[in-house]
Amino acid sequence: DSKDFDSETESVCPFCGVGCKVSLKVKDGKVKYVEGINGPANEGRLCVKGRFGFDYIHHPHRLTKPLIRRDDAPAKGLNVDPGNLDTHFREASWDEALEVAAKGLTGLRDTHGGRSVAGFGSAKCTNEEAYLFQKFIRQGFKHNNVDHCTRLCHASSVSALIENVGSGAVTATFNEIENADVAIIIGANPIENHPVAATYFKQFTKRGGKLIVMDPRGVGMRRFADEMLQFRPGADVSMLNAIMNVIVEEGLYDQAYIDKYTENWEAEKQHLAQFTPEAMSEICGIEPEQLRRVARTFAGAKAGLIFWGMGVSQHIHGTDNSRCLISLALMTGNVGKPGAGLHPLRGQNNVQGASDAGLIPMFLPDYQSVTDDGVRQAFTEVWDSDDFSNEKGLTVTEIVDEVYAGNIKGMYIQGENPAMSDPDVEHARDAFAKLEVMVVQDIFLTETANYADVILPASALYEKNGTVSNTNRQVQRVRPAVPPPAEAREDWAVTVELAQRCGLNWNYSDVSEVFAEMKLNMKSLDNITWERLKTETITYPSLHETDPGQPIVFGDGFPRAEGRAKFTPASVIAPDEAPDADFPMIMTTGRQLEHWHTGSMTRRSRVLDAVEPEANCSLHPSTLRGLGVEPGDMIRLTTRRGSIEIMARADRAIAPDMVFVPFAYVEAAANVLTNPAIDPYGKIPEFKFSAVRVEAI
Ligand code: SF4
Repeated sequence: DSKDFDSETESVCPFCGVGCKVSLKVKDGKVKYVEGINGPANEGRLCVKGRFGFDYIHHPHRLTKPLIRRDDAPAKGLNVDPGNLDTHFREASWDEALEVAAKGLTGLRDTHGGRSVAGFGSAKCTNEEAYLFQKFIRQGFKHNNVDHCTRLCHASSVSALIENVGSGAVTATFNEIENADVAIIIGANPIENHPVAATYFKQFTKRGGKLIVMDPRGVGMRRFADEMLQFRPGADVSMLNAIMNVIVEEGLYDQAYIDKYTENWEAEKQHLAQFTPEAMSEICGIEPEQLRRVARTFAGAKAGLIFWGMGVSQHIHGTDNSRCLISLALMTGNVGKPGAGLHPLRGQNNVQGASDAGLIPMFLPDYQSVTDDGVRQAFTEVWDSDDFSNEKGLTVTEIVDEVYAGNIKGMYIQGENPAMSDPDVEHARDAFAKLEVMVVQDIFLTETANYADVILPASALYEKNGTVSNTNRQVQRVRPAVPPPAEAREDWAVTVELAQRCGLNWNYSDVSEVFAEMKLNMKSLDNITWERLKTETITYPSLHETDPGQPIVFGDGFPRAEGRAKFTPASVIAPDEAPDADFPMIMTTGRQLEHWHTGSMTRRSRVLDAVEPEANCSLHPSTLRGLGVEPGDMIRLTTRRGSIEIMARADRAIAPDMVFVPFAYVEAAANVLTNPAIDPYGKIPEFKFSAVRVEAI
């Protein structure tokens, strides 16, 4: 009851890309209760994370004062007790901590050049914070070595979308499924990772919509599917090309749409001829007849949507996987009309917005290329700044390699935890230990902050003012329900002060001024004003000042030459490492319902941690029997990178030669094991396929 609380504040859930709107009920200075409210993406619904995963913001581990590494601290390593920081760090005033950070970073710049410093911003932060972060690196250090977790998420999807349809965002909101008669969900597990979106998908099947689920794991949505294609890990291209081969061979494509809106169709058609269902069945493990049935169902629909997740993107052929999905939608005319489209389900609360805001090394805000002189000039004019490099910057894993090599000597890391999230994470940790100046801005002493020289205590989403953009391109306001604890500050304000101390002429007195500056060079924000966002959620693009925005785009052509989308043929590329006698099984990684990414927030949420307190992995019961272990026993997983010990669980839906490992648990960190090989276009690591040995202990 509202009279039981001192205040109620509207904001947005901090976890997945669905972007559920919430009401935060505060009593005695603490958020006590979270309720779903009527946002366009959730219509009052919340999943268990949104409903119960809020009390981490009041956890005793919160960083509340700036910290500086002690002169006599032990050697850098993953060795700090988050409940006792005094062994490694001393408290400092903001003035001292910011001065040490600024002098450290500018000192490296002045001695070794700007490229000796790089930055990781965060999709946990607001659009305004992401914008300021990339501006800080570009303006302050004159290069583009700035990135964030999109590199580990949908970078390959974005690369294929920009290449072939001219824009990296979804072409239709997930709510458009109510107008679809068929939907494909591939390489995604929305019941655990986008649970509120999954409720819309389930409703779709209840009213007769045909659902096709494709995944090497027997993910939960299979229970609602008309077709479940549990294909071999890494065999996406062979399966999708076989489906498209049937569409070509049986003449099921939409010739009028192809003629009007696409290019390169003849090359695609010729390329697909070799991928017969019979030939591809061997590779992907799906029967030819099912491939034919799925092709006919999707091509025969009036409107079809395609959703995909990290199972598609996190491969060395992730860009090719997405190219296939784009081709499938184009050849069947399934873009730009109600109930049709391409929708990579965004993993993190604001990964769409942070990417839009330019927190990526090859693009300025709104995906404007850093290599375009006119674009850079437009930004430097607004920023009142000298020009900066026209070279595409380094990506997350490339930056870590350069740190390891000693070429990057300083980093500013805001809200990301690469010492848990990077592939082959021991390599990343060794790299961070070499940094001469490492400034970490976060709310907890993350694994990454273990290696910091200066730690700046920051704000959780429920303490922030600003905007975020969800998987649907919907821009929403977040508002502080409570202030950051003790001396912690909002992230945007910290970046502004650090920039000023690094000599940049920045003057912002309110975060709304940052939003106003973003609008000057971001057409996606046309007609979206701070004033409107006080009461509205707006789906960009918004065509006029009362338009709530466009849930479907590209109904009349694409933002490419002559308005045409492109078919880019994709060939079968094997995963980077094949199982062999030493590493005979396949490991894949991901999230589970209760835990969020590297666990820094959800493992400090009482209810979520109580439900899933222990590191676990899933194997088929027959595999466990073969090992002579029972569910609940500890097992050892070993790859060419390292080894972890973890509790085994039985899961009949997983293939007998696979093991699934969530990456939230530091005590059995999945990324100790993962393969750092990357997709050549999106530069995304192959998290979804590592050859592994599984042993009883
Ligand atoms: Fe939060 Fe995503 Fe759950 Fe919605 S579906 S409550 S945004 S975690």
